[in-house]
Amino acid sequence: MGIGKELSRRRFLSNVAGSAAASMLARPAFSLSSPHPFSSGITFDVASTEPSILAWQNQGVINTSNSPYAKLHSVPVRAVTIADGFWSKRRKINAERSIPTMHDELEAHGRMDNFRRVVGKSSEPQKGPYFSDSDIYKWIDAVGWSLQSDANSELRRTTDGWIREVVAIQEPSGYLNTYYQNDRVSLRMSQHDQEVGHEMYCLGHMIQGAIAYYRATGDTKLLDAGQRMVDGFVLPNYGPGPNQKPIISGHPEIEMALIELYRTTGKRQYVELAGYILHGDERAKIEPERIVYMYCGIPFTTRTKLEGHAVRAMYACCGATDYYLETGDEAYWKTLNTLWEDLVKRQMYVTGGVGARSQGESFGTPYELPNAQAYGESCAAIGNMMWNWRMLAASGEAKFTDVVERALYNGINSGMSLDGTTYCYRNPLAFDPSHFDGFRGSPNIRNPWYDVTCCPPNIERTFSSLPSYFYSTSKDGLYVHLYDNSSLDWHLEDGTGIKVEQKTRYPWEGAVELTVNPEQSKEFTFYVRIPAWAEGASVAVDGKPQPSVKAGEYLALRRTWKPGDRVRLNFPMNTVPVAANPRVAEDRGKVALRRGPMIYCMEGLDQAQGVALADTSIVLGPRSGGEFHNQYRADMLDGIMVLDHRGGAYEVSSAEEALYAPAALSPRKTRPVDLTFIPYYVWANRQPSAMEVWVPYLTA
Ligand SMILES: [Zn+2]
Repeated sequence: MGIGKELSRRRFLSNVAGSAAASMLARPAFSLSSPHPFSSGITFDVASTEPSILAWQNQGVINTSNSPYAKLHSVPVRAVTIADGFWSKRRKINAERSIPTMHDELEAHGRMDNFRRVVGKSSEPQKGPYFSDSDIYKWIDAVGWSLQSDANSELRRTTDGWIREVVAIQEPSGYLNTYYQNDRVSLRMSQHDQEVGHEMYCLGHMIQGAIAYYRATGDTKLLDAGQRMVDGFVLPNYGPGPNQKPIISGHPEIEMALIELYRTTGKRQYVELAGYILHGDERAKIEPERIVYMYCGIPFTTRTKLEGHAVRAMYACCGATDYYLETGDEAYWKTLNTLWEDLVKRQMYVTGGVGARSQGESFGTPYELPNAQAYGESCAAIGNMMWNWRMLAASGEAKFTDVVERALYNGINSGMSLDGTTYCYRNPLAFDPSHFDGFRGSPNIRNPWYDVTCCPPNIERTFSSLPSYFYSTSKDGLYVHLYDNSSLDWHLEDGTGIKVEQKTRYPWEGAVELTVNPEQSKEFTFYVRIPAWAEGASVAVDGKPQPSVKAGEYLALRRTWKPGDRVRLNFPMNTVPVAANPRVAEDRGKVALRRGPMIYCMEGLDQAQGVALADTSIVLGPRSGGEFHNQYRADMLDGIMVLDHRGGAYEVSSAEEALYAPAALSPRKTRPVDLTFIPYYVWANRQPSAMEVWVPYLTA
């Protein structure tokens, strides 16, 4: 914290003053007073006295500070310190175990040798699929955000070394991709390779990783390389012009990266290029099924539903939302909202995961949300979170934050083991180890490495960047989105310094105390998020209960805030059985249990001996006793809230019954058994064990 604080505030003020004038955005102007000795590559208008882009240390996970259609503006990772609590454990393991072990895995599997090979420093053959470069970039992305919370000099040195090796292979044209250099130059950017080869995808991840690293360190080496490839190779040769060739975004990613590159450098052409890619180029003749699968190739604004490869679709939606944030193109906003309705009404798992089918890693038909067969790739849940984060920036609406929270605590969080060294690629909602025939060649659902290792570094960069998701600023005040022990040290958009302390045992308990400390008394609106699940929540300011508290909205607390003012939130933490829409065939007659933001599951090894998950049911209704007891167990799975319930198990195992019998005669006698539920994200951290999220229920 505190790097050039005075300077940054001045810069920030000038920004706010100039943000109405969109024309200034075309100017790649960095402030004179920037402390970093920039290297070559970016043109800096150092003589400019015009409002400038924010300095690197003030840019959030996406930098919407100058985005004319962003209602909310992100805060940098370094502005929020997460203290001991729920996320500190996950983030500590991420920094101390996941990022270092993934470094070793990437080396061991030759991902850096791919770069060394191009310049004759390795005789190893190309390793991994054609998009393997992106694994390195996503890892650098994770390191970048992580260095903002902890200036780990050894990690910095290691990463600097890798970055030097990456940029060393760049061709004079700017081209940089280990798979398509040397022996595969002739395949480069052919229509076929654009569809399957991920060249633009890798470039997108290079840019994103470079930006994360730049925002942590001010180092532009990788950023320069990414910009050189766009400026020298892509812009002159690809685009709508008569002497240019079409771009096909075979795996969307470049779109959001280009817009973030614009937000970082001020070069408006990158927004235009992203818009061109999102629109598609009709000169490229693409098979209709590829247009579905890749989620590109036709104008984004003609899309009416989510389909095809789930990660591709989510990343395309991220890019399209970023494009809207910069251009205000209403057709995009309309399409994005149509697609969002499709997401939350027909396509999203209760965990925030998306992508029902392993075939094509894709969305299914509406309401096709199988449990055991669920694909729910970790990357797709992350894409869902990133998309909703952008929709939130555009609108300030809490319904998007609800999806961010749902995915974060459940479908993303499940992707990394508690010890931080193994990962789920798929995140099913039911699992029977005796029917599991492995995944991508491994007998395990969690693995330290995948040949397609997109998910592990993606989870790492999400956890690293998490502090930036806690708050945003707006013209009239400050928004709080996520709750955990933490402190914010930032400023309002008029430059007034502000600190906010959060004290809570969230997500296990629903009380949150926020202490607001503006540097002087100041009138502004503090928007506190009331989660959609928190029906009956209460809010008090300095002990005074507030009216109009509504679940699923931000409560706007407008007043003159004085240092030390306290806001107390109380979210009822009841265990709630959640039913799915009856059209979700697999979930009929079943419920999932939710407590706060957490979705629960039953894991076989927590149940009484001889009780098969398939034969159990919970008991709901007025005469059931119907309770779920909760108990915090510090000794279990790194500390979790466990739910217990007196449910039932079939007296005769259903495995003994006939496959078909007249319904009236079908015996369904149960005996009482105590059932135990654990949060979904901790499943499969002990031995491989049966797991169910959706459980049958009886009414009493
Ligand atoms: Zn993945």
